Order: sequence, then C-alpha cells, then structure tokens
Amino acid sequence: MTFRHHPSPNFGPRKGGDRISLVILHYTGMETAAAALDRLCDPSAEVSAHYLVDTDGEIWSLVDESQRAWHAGLSYWAGETDINSRSIGIEIQNQGPGLETHPFPRPQMDAVSLLCQDVMLRHRIGPAGVLGHSDISVGRKVDPGPEFPWARLAADGVGFWVDGAARPELDEDRALAALRAIGYALDAPMTTLAAFRLHWVPEVAGDAPLDPLTMYRLQTLAARMSGL
Ligand SMILES: [Zn+2]
Repeated sequence: MTFRHHPSPNFGPRKGGDRISLVILHYTGMETAAAALDRLCDPSAEVSAHYLVDTDGEIWSLVDESQRAWHAGLSYWAGETDINSRSIGIEIQNQGPGLETHPFPRPQMDAVSLLCQDVMLRHRIGPAGVLGHSDISVGRKVDPGPEFPWARLAADGVGFWVDGAARPELDEDRALAALRAIGYALDAPMTTLAAFRLHWVPEVAGDAPLDPLTMYRLQTLAARMSGL
C-alpha cells in the first residue's frame, strides 16, 4: 500500500490510552481533493484526518496513526464521546449530494477498502468498528451520505451489511433498545433512527414510521454488534 505524504499540522496526542477501535469514514463535501487537502492542512480550519482518498484511488497520508486527528468533532458511540482519540479518520473525496448525485468511483472504493482492511488488521478492529460520520454525529453530519456503497465494502469484511428481510413484529421500544445496543446516541430517537437508515436502510426515508425492513436490520445488527 503506497501513500503520498502531505503532513497536516492539525493533530494532538490521543487521550485516555492508545486503544484505536473505530474507523470513521467521511466525504470531503468539496469539489476537488486538492481543495480538501488545503483545508485539512490549514491550521486555522482546525480539521484533519489520517487519510484522504481521491477519486482515482490515490491515498494521501496526513496525520500519523499514533496521533489524534480532528475529524469527528462532537460525537458519541457506545458510551464514548472522544471518538477522535479512539479512531482512524478517512476522508473520501466526494462533493456529497446536491442537485445531482455523485457516485463513488470503483478505483476509489477499491482503495478505501484496501486502506480500511490494512488499518483494521494492524489495530485489530472488526467489522463492527467501521462507521460513518453520520453514525457518530447524529443529526449533525450526514457523510459519507446516501450514495456510499456500504454493501460493497462489507463484502470485503469492511463494516457490516444486512441483506434480505424477514417481517418481524414492529415494536418501538425494541427498536430503540437495538439502536442503543448497536452504539448510537439516543438523545433524539427519531433523528437517530434517520441516521441508522441513512447507513443501513437507504431504501426507506429517514422520517418514515417504523417499518419491517428497518426493524429486521436493527435487530440483526444489534445481535451482531452489541458488546463488540
Ligand atoms: Zn465528516
């Protein structure tokens, strides 16, 4: 795996030990990787990530993995709030949804997959540890967005995906319990349900009433991810 080095000054020491248990995926929301690189290395922007993956699959290394990069911001997952200290942050060049959609090209996703597998192997992170910014900053962030090919990554063991659908009984209390077991913050449950759908049930509108497909995937993921 080859990286191009473009060091960012935006990092600090990891706090509370060096345990790295999460990989957080982002999109840049900018027009070009060059513009994103500038911003991620601008001291006044106070943001960074460990890596940036361009649309052609080129991988830029910005912050050493031993250091705490500044990509998660205000966030929560499974009882932890300093996600920057616990994670590797990967920015993926994509403008994000606007008037038109912006699919993630195959060479880019091949590189993202290999990079994630490499990070996961070195830090012993399982599929449950691969999340989007939208999962950990519910209601505040939507990246990597509805176009992101989570299923394609999961086929490589990068993150979990649930296919198929049983028709379980709908039960809102059990749905909330599943969200909590997976790791989500539950300050605003309907917003959290929308964040869950953005990642794992893109077929269903975020604000729709609880439906069987969402319920099935909630319960399946809760069983796989809780306590991991
Ligand atoms: Zn982000």
